[in-house]
Amino acid sequence: MSDTPRNLFDKVWETHRVRELPSGQTQLFIGTHLVHEVTSPQAFAMLRERNLPVRFPQRTFATVDHIIPTDSQIRPLSDELAEAMMTELERNCRDHGIRLFDAASGAQGIVHVIGPELGLTQPGTTIACGDSHTSTHGAFGAIAFGIGTSQVRDLLATQCLAMVRLQVRRIEVTGKLAPGVYAKDLTLDIIRRLGVKGGVGYAYEYAGPILAAMSLEERMTVCNMSIEGGARCGYVNPDDTTYEYLRGRPWAPEGDAFDRAVAWWRSMASEPGADYHDVVEVPGSEIAPTVTWGINPGQNLAIDQTIPTIQDTPDEDRASVAEALEYMDLRPGMPIAGTPIDVAFIGSCTNGRISDLREAARVAQTGQVPPSVRALVVPGSQEVARQAEEEHLDEVFRAHGFQWREPGCSMCLAMNPDKLEGREVCASSSNRNFKGRQGSPTGRTLLMSPAMVAAAAIHGQVVDIREVL
Ligand code: SF4
Repeated sequence: MSDTPRNLFDKVWETHRVRELPSGQTQLFIGTHLVHEVTSPQAFAMLRERNLPVRFPQRTFATVDHIIPTDSQIRPLSDELAEAMMTELERNCRDHGIRLFDAASGAQGIVHVIGPELGLTQPGTTIACGDSHTSTHGAFGAIAFGIGTSQVRDLLATQCLAMVRLQVRRIEVTGKLAPGVYAKDLTLDIIRRLGVKGGVGYAYEYAGPILAAMSLEERMTVCNMSIEGGARCGYVNPDDTTYEYLRGRPWAPEGDAFDRAVAWWRSMASEPGADYHDVVEVPGSEIAPTVTWGINPGQNLAIDQTIPTIQDTPDEDRASVAEALEYMDLRPGMPIAGTPIDVAFIGSCTNGRISDLREAARVAQTGQVPPSVRALVVPGSQEVARQAEEEHLDEVFRAHGFQWREPGCSMCLAMNPDKLEGREVCASSSNRNFKGRQGSPTGRTLLMSPAMVAAAAIHGQVVDIREVL
């Protein structure tokens, strides 16, 4: 071991490095592989063609989330394609001895919600999954990558990935978040400041007093959207909050093994004086409730700001701003507050956890969803749904005009029946506002915190949460 102080990323990389490849990449051992129904069928088929087994089935865990309907999950599913994908995943897991968390398991949910919930996500480890938002798991001090289908195949066959080593950018968030400002606002603010491609080639290390004070669920929201800023992964150093979250989780170590694990997890955190490619300071106290107005998550503004005009936009951004204004059909110079919405979606791996639902329910109680708005609350997992129902949050939502659904990705990417129709505008707690992301090729998405979505739902328009609470 070197005496030079190191950051967590470098420690995890070195611990999991198998060898350097002639391509200049590193062959990296992946501790945990999370699998879902959409990006895995082709990968399993490729293994079958080559007659290859899964190298470490005990390190591979599967769930169903992307395509599963949220109105009824009774089998057979009414959507034949969804049923076929479910059956395929079940067969693949059975054939290869992989643990599947399906609806009957009581632990099904969005892959990035159940991994942490089950204690599969642990500090100092490497994690990969065929979904871009795998960066979520960095909240625990894991280095977690979203991967494509051919990499899912490689990982199934070898438990390794060929990866280019990243540079590490430390993002120090100073101050304190104001009331009505959430982890979602912080992550949107960071993406706007650094750009949607600003993180390409980087791992983001999030630090500072705001991150230190955050719950694991809030840290997950921040890390989840690292990929939207171009970073391959994002992480927060593990601390006592992390260890307490993990204590007693089904897949976390127990007894003495837990204490030994904590000692090791602690040793993997970045050390004072560790080297970074660069350090960026973000003044957290200045952040306001934030909403996207455009077609990428970086096109966002504070709730009290106005939609940009072409003439006030720097030359290099004019084309993308013009494209976004045309697609979104929002008037330049107008306040974003007051924008009418048709749909409200509370859920996703960004903001479908219990703390998100509690906050949204608190806001929901202040009004009633008008008939003009379709409002969906989709818990991130069966565990989240159970907790919410124990706390009667489902009743609160229903009483105030929201639909209470079964767990799944739902309208985050609409690979299931939950979709926008036509030019509908959706206030969404998810992570992507790309053209057509929510199922309609012309649908429009405004990203915001779950509390802001709940407020938009009951007012029928985008509102400042600070005026509601
Ligand atoms: S909620 Fe959205 S981003 Fe998250 S895993 Fe599902 S589809 Fe991917």
